[in-house]
Amino acid sequence: MATVALKDVSKVFPNGTLAVDNVSLDVNDGEFMVLLGPSGCGKSTVLRMVAGLEDPTSGAVMIDGEYANDLTPRDRGVAMVFQDFALYPHMTVEDNIAFPLKLTGMELTPREERVASVASALGIGDVLGRRPSQLSGGQRQRVAMGRAIVRRPRLFLMDEPLSNLDSGLRAELRAEISGLTRELGVTTIYVTHDQAEALTMADRVAIMRRGVLQDVGTPTQVYGRPATLYVAAFLGSPRMNLLEASVYVHLDRYVALNLGEQSLYLPWDDIRSRAVAHYHGERIVVGMRAEALTPVAPDAPGDVLQGRIRFLEHHGHESLAFLDVGATAVVVDEMGRRVDVDDTDSGSRGLRRGLGQMVQRLTGRSA
Ligand code: ATP
Repeated sequence: MATVALKDVSKVFPNGTLAVDNVSLDVNDGEFMVLLGPSGCGKSTVLRMVAGLEDPTSGAVMIDGEYANDLTPRDRGVAMVFQDFALYPHMTVEDNIAFPLKLTGMELTPREERVASVASALGIGDVLGRRPSQLSGGQRQRVAMGRAIVRRPRLFLMDEPLSNLDSGLRAELRAEISGLTRELGVTTIYVTHDQAEALTMADRVAIMRRGVLQDVGTPTQVYGRPATLYVAAFLGSPRMNLLEASVYVHLDRYVALNLGEQSLYLPWDDIRSRAVAHYHGERIVVGMRAEALTPVAPDAPGDVLQGRIRFLEHHGHESLAFLDVGATAVVVDEMGRRVDVDDTDSGSRGLRRGLGQMVQRLTGRSA
């Protein structure tokens, strides 16, 4: 097991590309850390610098508190799994998994035992005699993982290991990989651009954009309280509703969020009121997840926002309504209501804040 610390790490490639921009990140012992971000944001470069396959231009990579910049990949005690599996085609599954142990000079009997236990943990004990060409994609990926963990590395690095597999298999292997690494207690850094993968597998997620670290936290934290507008808009499907509002505090009784022609009122005893109250007189951005807004009849009593339905989208397990609330597009989860496309309640919908609603200042003064 190991800790990893990146301290002000940057990478500029010889062609001038700034791939990683002053990233600092701590990965705890035994933690499953996911690096998430769109293509080209620098995730793989971070991983490769931890592995020792790429040198940082500046900053320090620490493994177990030790300055690792000058260590060779081999001396870092890391194992890496890539998306293309990279198995030896002429070797059997058993020999593929055993290969790293052979290099260390391990005797045959303990080697066979180690391979058998890894293969059984990965559910590939019955294909040890086959060659990679005789395996399914999922089995090949399990072999690649087996070969990586058989040496009992202190650090496991994975770069989009599931991206070549179909979605059913991906979901299955997701659970297997996170289960296995937790069982082994190996510190893992896992790179993906797939947010479902990140949110389901990670202990903590680190979100990157254009080489810059945007947010680090548990899946619940980054989803519910994103640190930046970028993360708020990037995470979650549908994306978080972001409404610009002016804040008015009314004599310590309630806080009004003025959204143009309509307002939302937060009672003073609602803890979220305090969070926004000190922006009195300023414009802020309020983030609300679709599932935090309760759809009600447009004429429902109380504090109800009015929206005009633009269209409905059915996803089997949920229906989403896309609305215009004033000039802002808002999406709301119809919460299991069976809504037909032609049943749009004469085109309008009331929205009531649900208990799970989040009001958060996401950005600096926008006006
Ligand atoms: P992807 O998910 O597409 O792999 P990523 O987030 O892992 O993307 P990186 O592969 O780390 O991104 O690349 C970050 C940036 O650095 C990109 O703009 C990429 O084009 C650039 N880059 C990566 N490797 C090199 C290299 N060897 N030389 C020059 N530029 C590079």
